[in-house]
Amino acid sequence: MPVMKSMLVRMLYESRVLHKFSGIILKQGGLILMYHRVLPAGWKGMHLIQPGMYVSTDTFEREMKLLKTKFNVISLGSMLDYLKTERSLSRCCVITFDDGWQDTFTHAFPILERYKLPATVFLTSGYMNTDRRFWPDELAACLGEWFSRGRGDALLPMGVKRILEKEGVTSHQSPTFIIDRAIGGFKKISETSRDTLLLELKEIFPNRIDDRVMMTWQEVDTMTATGRIDLGAHTVSHCLLDQIPPWEAKKEILQSKQEIESRLNRSVDYFAYPNGNFTPEISDLVREAGFAAAVTTRRGWVHAGQDLFELPRNGIHNDVGKTDALFMWRLLIR
Ligand SMILES: [Zn+2]
Repeated sequence: MPVMKSMLVRMLYESRVLHKFSGIILKQGGLILMYHRVLPAGWKGMHLIQPGMYVSTDTFEREMKLLKTKFNVISLGSMLDYLKTERSLSRCCVITFDDGWQDTFTHAFPILERYKLPATVFLTSGYMNTDRRFWPDELAACLGEWFSRGRGDALLPMGVKRILEKEGVTSHQSPTFIIDRAIGGFKKISETSRDTLLLELKEIFPNRIDDRVMMTWQEVDTMTATGRIDLGAHTVSHCLLDQIPPWEAKKEILQSKQEIESRLNRSVDYFAYPNGNFTPEISDLVREAGFAAAVTTRRGWVHAGQDLFELPRNGIHNDVGKTDALFMWRLLIR
């Protein structure tokens, strides 16, 4: 974030200008926040994670404290009730986590409990209870090996080299930048090409499977036992739903709901589109599968008359919440 913006935001916050206008701004509706990973600062694998994917535990704790004092943090179910009964959503805020990372249990959950805050966790059913990793993590691990072997161009498969070039990557840039761009580039190619390239990369850069990164069903069960954490589905395989045939999308949506429901013996009423990818046809499939609502990755306010299958969410990552001022700015202005 440019230093100038950061200074300006701090000035507006400290002079209480932001607070003065917050009442008016918050009249626009409710907020749904989207988190992914919560990790301790200096965690060993941090340089292999996209900056948009995590907040540090310290940042997360400060954010929860601020939300607790300045907002009315409610469950997603309560927000839907507010919408149905046309109650004002001003100052209402919902906290959500995507994917089912183990750190949601080990790092986020204890902090949520400390502040008695509700949250919804969207699970990728096919990854729960396994030591599987999502492809961006596998790609990052291979690139991590490439970094440690001196970043020679000749080491990379031609297809990967081409993607990096297209994304404007040179081998001198920072690991975080290269990984971020590489993942972006890999998202633009077909699933088959992606799988082929990943296989090639893994052959050149075999890397050991680190500790398990996804939650076990037992951990999910422990979290939900408090009554403050509820669950949503996020497909079986984290596929991009607009890039697969409708019959397959239907199966991914329905099967993830059924699997979580049967594993945990509770109903799963909410859905999150992986990567935020959806079309009107896909939201129809989600509705037909029996969900009550679905969340996107489009930023915005939740307001009266809202389409419940296109609920906007506001992504929070470490860089946008480094200080209370920046976090408030992200929530109010964005
Ligand atoms: Zn996801």
